[in-house]
Amino acid sequence: MQKTALIIGASRGLGLGLAKQFCAAGWQVIATVRNPQHAEALSQMPQVRVETLDMDDAGSVDQLAARLGDTRLDVLFVNAGVAGPQDKPATQANQTEVGQLFFTNAVAPVRLAERLLPLVDPAQGVIVFMSSILGSVETGPGMGMDLYGASKAALNHMTRTFVAGLGETRLTVLSMHPGWVKTDMGGDQAPLDVETSTRGMLEQVTQAIGQGGHRYLDYQGNPLPW
Ligand code: NDP
Repeated sequence: MQKTALIIGASRGLGLGLAKQFCAAGWQVIATVRNPQHAEALSQMPQVRVETLDMDDAGSVDQLAARLGDTRLDVLFVNAGVAGPQDKPATQANQTEVGQLFFTNAVAPVRLAERLLPLVDPAQGVIVFMSSILGSVETGPGMGMDLYGASKAALNHMTRTFVAGLGETRLTVLSMHPGWVKTDMGGDQAPLDVETSTRGMLEQVTQAIGQGGHRYLDYQGNPLPW
């Protein structure tokens, strides 16, 4: 039977690349965008159903859940994220900037996963949270983007709490580092292109099906230190 992946934040960058990869592998893809006018590339892919979602908005998540009904998800890929303020040192960021960054990167992804959990196949399903190596407390500090890294460390922490709350399950949870990738966020200096990173991530997700447990790994499957 054709498998279904829900990809959150697929208007551009890695999310759009993931939609392409899952489609090419024969999956049914449900891809979310914040602004329906930014769905042009997605709407050209025949296996993609586009949905509107602002992950920060609990009402928007509820509406998505209602539209999904009893759709069975094999993969929930929570890709959406933001870089936060980049024009000043971390400790110079103001309360609004820090609140927005930590809310979008750490709280909203896990809240969304909690809300959509009943749709994810409990035996074979995979939930992926897009983390970053910068979120590793062991190796991230000193690599740059301190505040962003701290928000991804917070996501990793929230994810471990989410996993602990799952109890006995065959569901697999991945905290994924996509590599440093050329996107609006990654910038032109990044060594990896979207296709290489997303092809690797698809492979990791496919291999994880049915394995269970929670792993923090990169797009090539290398385990990362928390
Ligand atoms: P981009 O900035 O290119 O794309 C970010 C995506 O997230 C867009 O589709 C954006 O939608 C969406 N998004 C942001 N906020 C929300 C929200 N509140 N609700 C719904 N969608 C939202 O980033 P990348 O593609 O580079 O990054 C994707 C993920 O990978 C992020 O989580 C990022 O932190 C992570 N990552 C990226 C790395 C890289 O090198 N590129 C390295 C490590 C991790 P919109 O178009 O509406 O703004």
